[in-house]
Amino acid sequence: MNQPENPRIRRLVQNPENIDQLRWEGIDLKKYDPNQEKSPNCFKDITRQVFFGAAEGLPCELRYFEMGRGGHSTLERHHHIHGVLILQGRGRVLLGDTIHPVAPFDVIYIPPLTWHQFRADEESSLGFLCLVKSDRDRPMLPTSEDLDLLRQNPQIAEFIRV
Ligand code: MN
Repeated sequence: MNQPENPRIRRLVQNPENIDQLRWEGIDLKKYDPNQEKSPNCFKDITRQVFFGAAEGLPCELRYFEMGRGGHSTLERHHHIHGVLILQGRGRVLLGDTIHPVAPFDVIYIPPLTWHQFRADEESSLGFLCLVKSDRDRPMLPTSEDLDLLRQNPQIAEFIRV
């Protein structure tokens, strides 16, 4: 892993093995561990890089998430809020009961207790910054009753991955 000249400045480095993937100096690339999740298929091909958090004395965390082509995040909701800024790629997001295309520099506010899931397009990866507070509740996954309700909308039924 490239280490920064100055730990206060983390410059973008190109990952030679994956030109779609944004990497920063000295920032670990984390993959979700499926064993930590209740459902092994609830996310696909997604990585996380954490820039700032409690270790830096902040009450919030700034993370970069990236999913490969056709990848998706977990369908979830929680009390804490997300502030999202799309940085690269193309995809769609389920936000409550609507689905929206997303592209670089779109800013997305995800309110409390709102179902959300990001999906990269089949021909594009999707990467975004996500701001959360450090002291936050764990995400809730949909129950079968929640899924029945969500799937009453045919577009959502087609979109969601669980
Ligand atoms: Mn979330």
